[in-house]
Amino acid sequence: MMKNRGLSILKRCFCSGNSIKPKICVVGGGPAGFYAAQHLAKKLENSQIDIMERLPVPFGLVRFGVAPDHPEVKNVIHTFTKTAESPNVNFYGNISLGKDISLEDLKQFYHIIILTYGAEQNKKLDIPGVNLKNVLPARNIVGWYNGVPSDKNLNINLNCETVAIIGQGNVAIDVARILLTPIDELKKTDITQHSLNQLSQSKIKKIVLIGRRGPLQAAFTIKELREMLKLKNCLTLWKNEDFETIETPIVEKLARPKKRITELMLKSVQEQKIINNEAKIFNPVFLRSPLEILGDNQVEKIVLGVNKLTGNDLLTQTATLTDQIETLDCDLVISSIGYKSIQADPNIPFDLNKGIIKNTKGKIDAGLYTSGWLGTGPVGVILSTMSNAFAVTEQIIEDIPKDNLLKNPKPGFEGARKILDQKNVQLVTWKDWAKIDKYEISLGEKAGKPREKIVDIEQMLKIASS
Ligand SMILES: Cc1cc2nc3c(=O)[nH]c(=O)nc-3n(C[C@H](O)[C@H](O)[C@H](O)COP(=O)(O)OP(=O)(O)OC[C@H]3O[C@@H](n4cnc5c(N)ncnc54)[C@H](O)[C@@H]3O)c2cc1C
Repeated sequence: MMKNRGLSILKRCFCSGNSIKPKICVVGGGPAGFYAAQHLAKKLENSQIDIMERLPVPFGLVRFGVAPDHPEVKNVIHTFTKTAESPNVNFYGNISLGKDISLEDLKQFYHIIILTYGAEQNKKLDIPGVNLKNVLPARNIVGWYNGVPSDKNLNINLNCETVAIIGQGNVAIDVARILLTPIDELKKTDITQHSLNQLSQSKIKKIVLIGRRGPLQAAFTIKELREMLKLKNCLTLWKNEDFETIETPIVEKLARPKKRITELMLKSVQEQKIINNEAKIFNPVFLRSPLEILGDNQVEKIVLGVNKLTGNDLLTQTATLTDQIETLDCDLVISSIGYKSIQADPNIPFDLNKGIIKNTKGKIDAGLYTSGWLGTGPVGVILSTMSNAFAVTEQIIEDIPKDNLLKNPKPGFEGARKILDQKNVQLVTWKDWAKIDKYEISLGEKAGKPREKIVDIEQMLKIASS
């Protein structure tokens, strides 16, 4: 009811002849930014929406996070492209909030600003030994195989047999799967050539996926587990005792998604095969917390504390350390324990503890909003990011008349351009991105891949300006 009223007031404003064109700036060209732009472009036809993205290339984690062997997930790029090509949307890449332009500048030029710059910082594994060689955050490994410019020279040594991954979310599984997938399968994807070269020399035989809690609390989802169970030349090994307390009456009472994944794990436990020496091993291990990483310069072992579960509600039980410890020999440790956002500009109200922008359902202040992982925290998939972006933009539409956001005309990008020109920032428009896109696709064709990503910012800019 409120929403409709907001919209009809707006429509009236725009029809009155002397209406002020809403100038909207979306900071961040990932899913949250594109979905917010899409919704606003449709609902506020008279508005001008500018997406400002730090990198010369769009799509955020759809390009740089989603695994190369999951091309179907990247189909959202078609929707984002349509949005970028809408008459009232512009994309400007190679502009970094906090470096090239400030929040105060944007406030002068735009009626509405939506911050959607994601959550790029790794949560730090805070145990002794994390600074040893070959202890790496999962996100940087993802960046290395997916073409994040700052990760192209990642110092990863794959001349090793056993890998310990700390964390059991889908990103942890993505990394395990990419490290265990036969190289001939990976060659057909858009994985970067530099990672492919190194992966083809990999000696990895076993990946241990370590979780603090039990199988019922595991964070990975059924699709990702199924893929691991079907992976060519790879056996999934479970510890029978991890499943001893998970009896049929407990499983029967679980909600459907949890029930299905638990049944799949139990079936896989029952069907465990005898180890074939040729096969690689994927070994999920439950109820273990990392305590210390040991090694002389390079990682050699990880010390794990054995946990027990406490609490009455099975799904939310918490892990408590016992006095038992175990040591696992390994040569690469990967931490996949989550992310946080950064305060890109000192004037952004920021919760440093939580690593998110202070906001109420996406609203930071009059005319200033946030959406996606920056506002919600780094949880959820592209679909939930879309729902959040749509909800925040509905709120904006309601607030425009309520907060009197269109008091004065504002210059929009023409104002920003002056500052960016003074700083000699090379703008990458959507047409410029199309040149990079075409170039990458043609490079990929030569190698039998969907694309070969450019991983050097200077090269991206050169192609954009060609
Ligand atoms: C490794 C990984 C794999 C994933 N795989 C899947 C999957 O298979 N399926 C799925 O549904 N979900 C997946 N997700 C989740 C999905 O990627 C997120 O839900 C979604 O990307 C969040 O969107 P966002 O726009 O908030 O953030 P992002 O996608 O991170 O986009 C933020 C954008 O802001 C830009 N930016 C950063 N700083 C600045 C700045 N200062 N100025 C301007 N721009 C800036 C960034 O370059 C980026 O383009 C995955 C997540 C990760 C981490």
